[in-house]
Amino acid sequence: MNTEQFYPLFLKSDKVTIDSRKIEKNDVFFAFSGDNFNAATLADQAVEKGALAVIVEQKGFENISKNIFYVPSTLQFLQDLAVYHRNKLQIPIIGLTGSNGKTTTKELIHAVLSEKYNVQYTIGNLNNHIGVPLTILSIKPEHEMAVIEMGANHQKEIELLCTISQPDYGYITNFGKAHLEGFGGFEGVIKGKSELYDFLISHHRTIVVNENDTIQMEKTKDYEPTVTFGKNDSDYYFESFSEEHCVGLVYHETKILSRLTGEYNFTNLCAAASLGLHFGIEVEKIKNAVENYVPTNMRSQIVKKGDKTLVLDTYNANPSSMSASLSNFITFEGRKTIIIGDMLELGEESAKEHQNILKLAQELGFDEIITVGKNFKNVNSSAISFKNTADLIDYLKLHRIQSENVLLKASRGISLEKAAEFI
Ligand code: ATP
Ligand code: MG
Repeated sequence: MNTEQFYPLFLKSDKVTIDSRKIEKNDVFFAFSGDNFNAATLADQAVEKGALAVIVEQKGFENISKNIFYVPSTLQFLQDLAVYHRNKLQIPIIGLTGSNGKTTTKELIHAVLSEKYNVQYTIGNLNNHIGVPLTILSIKPEHEMAVIEMGANHQKEIELLCTISQPDYGYITNFGKAHLEGFGGFEGVIKGKSELYDFLISHHRTIVVNENDTIQMEKTKDYEPTVTFGKNDSDYYFESFSEEHCVGLVYHETKILSRLTGEYNFTNLCAAASLGLHFGIEVEKIKNAVENYVPTNMRSQIVKKGDKTLVLDTYNANPSSMSASLSNFITFEGRKTIIIGDMLELGEESAKEHQNILKLAQELGFDEIITVGKNFKNVNSSAISFKNTADLIDYLKLHRIQSENVLLKASRGISLEKAAEFI
């Protein structure tokens, strides 16, 4: 069976899923096997639940029911079907990648564009070689646009995701020190993320450019079409301001205050507002969208707890986002404690990067520095350090933090969010 033969059945389905627990009547289920289980054994249950089609890569199951289809590779078939579907779609697709801020920017763009259009977008963080095709396959005839987040931790990944989603517009949030291990250092990050530019340029599609980012400028100089922001003479120019620890932008006298903390969110906001203006959305509507957007848990989130202000940023961390976060937090008024956890996946650079962050933290002069994880623990410093979050929690149960402001930031694997309730 090829994608063309299968496509009419896909069109009749309600949704595509790879999660057997989420199968409902009229779904297409792609059975991905894990290390410890053979997904095809779920095929008959899927049919019982009313699945319209079940795709398996193990032979023999297709005889159980006419709804079970054998393919040599479920992953390849999922991606091929997404490409086939994408080719039938006549709507603009906006592709996003970058080291930090993809999800935030994607959600802001979605919020802004939804003021006027019916926009499909990546749910959560489903941004990889499975998530991107699933998102493409979730685009229905009523959708007028889509925003697709593309994540990568090695070369050629963005290239593949571009082949699947074929974006008409593309934006790289920034080039930072994330996934250094898989990309092969910072130069590798630039090369890997720029695969989005390679696709857009070779297909003559529009690049959204932050003209304050020297790498973006260098990579797109002399290229058209673009949508630019950042400088006085860019297509769109915004001034920044902040109120109550949140960042905002001013556009032609209209002040738009977000609910996001961190100066770094300014560029995320600018990208979303620029695309909004480009697609003809009125400033008042952009204001409405941005002001009502509340970040999902753990990303630059401000939480008031008694007399304390907590900044929860425990969703992820790498040297770029960590230093951005510290520089933002130092501007808070009152005493400040930082609780920072290890930045994972840094490969050879890890020891040096952890050392640099602690040095920066000391230079900025926080009232108290607490670290969690063995990478930070290995750095010789005056910080209070714990090897994991459980040890930190034991400490917090006995010691109340005196500062009015507390920042929690770490890589996901540290589970630092668990400590929040003990502060
Ligand atoms: P992931 O790789 O996990 O998908 P992401 O790129 O989607 O991450 P977000 O989830 O939007 O990024 O943000 C994660 C964190 O990155 C934020 O909480 C914040 O600390 C930081 N961050 C967000 N935007 C920027 C930016 N433009 N520059 C630097 N750091 C940023
Ligand atoms: Mg993300």
